Amino acid sequence: MIFWGLVLFSNRTFSQFPILPPTQSWSGISESLIADPKNPWITPTEMSGFKQTPSYSETMDWLQKLCKASGFLKMSVIGKSPEGREIMMVIASLEKDNSAKGIAQSKKPTLLVQCGIHSGEIDGKDASMMLLRDLAFSSKKAILTKVNVLIVPILNVDGHERSGPFNRPNQRGPENMGWRTNAQNLNLNRDYMKLDTKEIQAMVEVFNQYDPDFFMDIHVTDGADFQYDVTYGFMGKLGHSPAIANWIERFYVPGIENGLKQMGHIPGLFLNQASGPDFSKGILDEPTSPNFSNGYADLRGLPGVLIENHSLKPFKQRVLGTYVLLEESMKVLANQKTTLFDSIQKVRKSREIEIPLMLKSPDLNQPAPDSIMHLGIVSTIEKSDITNGEVIRWQGKPESRKLPFFRPKAVGKSVVRPEGFWVPVHCEEIISRLKKHGIQMEVALEDKEVLVELSRIKNPKFSPRPYEGRFQVNGEIIAELVKRKFRKGSVWVSTNQPLGNLAVVLLNPRSPESFLQWGFFNTIFQPTEYMEAYLIEPLAKNMLNNSPDLRARFEKKKQEEPAFANNPGAILDWFYKQSPYADSEYLLYPVGIAINP
Ligand SMILES: [Zn+2]
Repeated sequence: MIFWGLVLFSNRTFSQFPILPPTQSWSGISESLIADPKNPWITPTEMSGFKQTPSYSETMDWLQKLCKASGFLKMSVIGKSPEGREIMMVIASLEKDNSAKGIAQSKKPTLLVQCGIHSGEIDGKDASMMLLRDLAFSSKKAILTKVNVLIVPILNVDGHERSGPFNRPNQRGPENMGWRTNAQNLNLNRDYMKLDTKEIQAMVEVFNQYDPDFFMDIHVTDGADFQYDVTYGFMGKLGHSPAIANWIERFYVPGIENGLKQMGHIPGLFLNQASGPDFSKGILDEPTSPNFSNGYADLRGLPGVLIENHSLKPFKQRVLGTYVLLEESMKVLANQKTTLFDSIQKVRKSREIEIPLMLKSPDLNQPAPDSIMHLGIVSTIEKSDITNGEVIRWQGKPESRKLPFFRPKAVGKSVVRPEGFWVPVHCEEIISRLKKHGIQMEVALEDKEVLVELSRIKNPKFSPRPYEGRFQVNGEIIAELVKRKFRKGSVWVSTNQPLGNLAVVLLNPRSPESFLQWGFFNTIFQPTEYMEAYLIEPLAKNMLNNSPDLRARFEKKKQEEPAFANNPGAILDWFYKQSPYADSEYLLYPVGIAINP
C-alpha cells in the first residue's frame, strides 16, 4: 500500500508559513534608480514592485526590443543549453566594430558580467536590465566611451525555467526562483575545469573570443545572517595572479565600497563562519578551487570577482545593490585602465617556477593570527524541542564585533613548471577540452620519440559516489622517466604561453583539478589481459629459481602479510605482474611531462 500522508500539507500551507528570520527595514539612495511607472522601459521586475522576476522568454524579448530601440546595444547567441534554449549575451559597446574580434582588440577595458549561473540567484539579471536601459537612454551612456560591457543575463537558462516558490528556501524573494543546477543536474559553478556542460563551454568561449579585462560572477548566498547586503570575494596574492589580486585590493575594492556606501548599501568581504552556526568562533576566508568561476579566472590571468548578495536581504535591496556595484565597477575600469592593463600583462607574461595547486587551509585549532571588524546580527542558541539539539535563532538586530579572522597564509601543494606536456593522439577528449580552454598546442605531423616523465598511479582510491557526474580518483604517483613514442597527431602543449599555468593544473596528475583526478582516465585502472593459473605457477617456479632477490622478497612478503601467504590467487597475481606478460600500460597515466633539461 502506498501512504500518501504528505499530501495533507498543501503547497499553500507552506507558502503561508514564514520561515525566514526577521529582516531590518532598509531604504537607500539607490531607490532613486527605480524607473517611474510611466517609463515605457520600466523592467518587469520594477513593474512588479520587485516581487517577481521575468521568465526566460520575457527577459529575452524585453532585451531584444531594448537593443533595437537603443541603436547600439546588440545581442549575441553564445551557445545553446542542453534543453535547446539559446544562451544570450548583450554587448554594450560604442566600438565601430563590436564583433568579438573588435571587442578583443578594443583599447577600452571590457567588463564581462555573468548572471544566473545558479539561476535562483538572479539579482544580476534584473539589475542588468535596469542598467542597460539607463545606458541606452540616459546620460549614463557616456561611460561607454571608456569601457565595453558584456552581460550574460541568464547563464543557466534551463534551471531558470524550473521556476517556483520553493527553490531557494534560504532566500528572501523573488516569488518565482529558478533552480541551482542545469537540466543535467550539474552545478555549472563546479565545471570550469572539466568543461562537461554546454553552458560553461559557452562562457569559456566568450573568455577566449572577447578577451575581457574584468569578470564578475553574480550569486546570492545561503547561510548565516549579517548586515552586509553585497559581498565580494577574490583570489588573494597566493594564487596564480598576484599582480591582479593587488590591483583588485588597491583599486577595485575601495572604488566599489565607496560607491555602494554612498548609495545606501553595506558592502563587505564574502566570508563564512569559522565553525558552528554563528560567528563567535571567528571568520573564515576559504580558499577557492579553479572549478569555481573566480578560481578559474585567477588561473587564466583574468581579473575576476565572485559577488554574493546576502540571501536574507529583500530582493529589491539586492537588485539595487547589484546595479550600483555594476555601475561602480565600470567606473573603476574606466578610471584605472592603465593600472588594470599593466597588472594583466604582468600576470600573463610571468612564468613562475613553482605553480600552486592548492592553498593551505588555516588551522582553526590555533589562535587566529588576524582579526576583523564584523557587522553581524544578534543571534541566540536555543534548545530544540524537535531534535533535542541546538538551533540558532537570528534576531534581526545589528551588532558589530571584532572577530578572529582565519585565512590562507601559505601554499599547501605546488609543482614545478615543466617545459610542457605530450598528450597522445588517442586522448581525443582531453585534446578537445584543452582547445576549448583556449590552450595553444602543436600537433605532431609524424611519430615522435621523446624523453618524458610518465606517472604510474598506484593504490588508486575512487570517490565512493559520483561528484558532479564523475568518479574522482587519486593515488600514489610513481614517476618513471622513459623514452616514449607519441603517434602522429599527438599534441605538444608548451607551458610557455599565457595559459601555461592552466595547462599544468589540468595535466599534472598531482593536481586535484587535473583531468586524471576528475576521472577522465579511469580506463587505465582496469586490467585487460590475464594469464591462466596453470601457466603462471610453473613460470613462478622458474622465476624464483633464476632470481635469489625475487625469492627473498617473496619469502619476506609471505612472512609479513599472512593474508597474502594464504591467498593462492594473490600469489599468482604477484608473479604475473612481475613477469614480462604483465600489461605495461596498466595504471599508467599516458600524458608525458617534459622535464626541463
Ligand atoms: Zn550561487
